[in-house]
Amino acid sequence: MATIVASTVGELKLTDIVSLINPGQKPAFMKNNLRIISAVSRYIQGPGCLSQLGEATADLGKKPLVVTDEILKDLFGDQLEASFRAASLPYNLLTFPGEVTRPTIDALAAQGKTLGIDVVVGFGGGKALDTGKGVALALGTPFVSVPTIAATDAPASLAIAVYNDHHLLTEILLLPRNPELVLVDSAIIAKAPLRFLLAGIGDAISKKFEAEAVHKAGRETPNGTRSTRTGLAIANACYDLIRNHAVPAIAAVQAGQVANGEVNDDLESLLEATVLLSTMGFENAGLSISHAIAKGLPMVPRAARTLHGEHVAYGLLVQLILEERPREFILELLDFYRQIGLPTQLADFGMTDWTEDELDTLTANAMLSPSVKRFVVELDQDMLKAAIRQVETLG
Ligand SMILES: [Zn+2]
Repeated sequence: MATIVASTVGELKLTDIVSLINPGQKPAFMKNNLRIISAVSRYIQGPGCLSQLGEATADLGKKPLVVTDEILKDLFGDQLEASFRAASLPYNLLTFPGEVTRPTIDALAAQGKTLGIDVVVGFGGGKALDTGKGVALALGTPFVSVPTIAATDAPASLAIAVYNDHHLLTEILLLPRNPELVLVDSAIIAKAPLRFLLAGIGDAISKKFEAEAVHKAGRETPNGTRSTRTGLAIANACYDLIRNHAVPAIAAVQAGQVANGEVNDDLESLLEATVLLSTMGFENAGLSISHAIAKGLPMVPRAARTLHGEHVAYGLLVQLILEERPREFILELLDFYRQIGLPTQLADFGMTDWTEDELDTLTANAMLSPSVKRFVVELDQDMLKAAIRQVETLG
């Protein structure tokens, strides 16, 4: 996969404002021993905080554009309208068909330009947020992120995953900076299917171990520098919050407590970890084997419909084997996975009685990920296969 970085923004078409970087090479400025730390400017989280979206957006622009999908427009249109009306801020709303593609981003950006949009609000899951980010990038406006699920790092990250019409990842675009505002209404997140919250835990729980692996290997973060102390500390805090709060937070969500508007400290702490700290951890300390495996797993047709965070959770088990962590340590983590409902075996991805061909596909694609190189020893496909076989015997 090629990493594509936007160099300038403004009047240019999206296709004109990108330049290719070979993901296998260390960016030139890494040699300068800089420390670059990226983070969102403002983060608001709590049950019912969608009502503050209009007021918070008014600080950033006078002509907001909300990008969402048809289903969420029907579900939340009234709440969005009320929030912007309370701030006396007229807004436009455009829907996208469901996939983050160049043509979709270009079409929405063209409409946004005609409307004179000066701030873009992404509202929904990762695809809606990334489409909104693409429009903000093309228009050169600030971006506001309002996730309705907490399944990935999309809300707080500056990265935009772009796909083709066949739903294959084609490129990663980068905003020039992280979202100006991330607004997380925890009551909305709590009403979404629990599987998304679990996937968000899977995508976040690996960050401490990936950060440590990148640090040990002296490799680069997405900012192109060595891992920062800030990134390592945040990735650690992310892990601690998940281990201390995930179990009671899930129980509270299942009991419907948060959806009733009650503030639940366990869920709020968990969301801080999975929505904010997870992203700050990887952007400032880097990604390693867990995410390389997560690139390979969905390429196996039987696993294609499972979620990124589920792939990362499994990838972490593979990484811990490759790190030769004590068996008791890995078994304890497996217990935690089972307790909350994260996958522990390939069978959990629909790959019961997986074949050698499937293992080949998984590991060959994992080897293509730049993250596989951010490890203290150089790995080959056979080492990944052996580690996966070991994970499969643990269960
Ligand atoms: Zn991820």
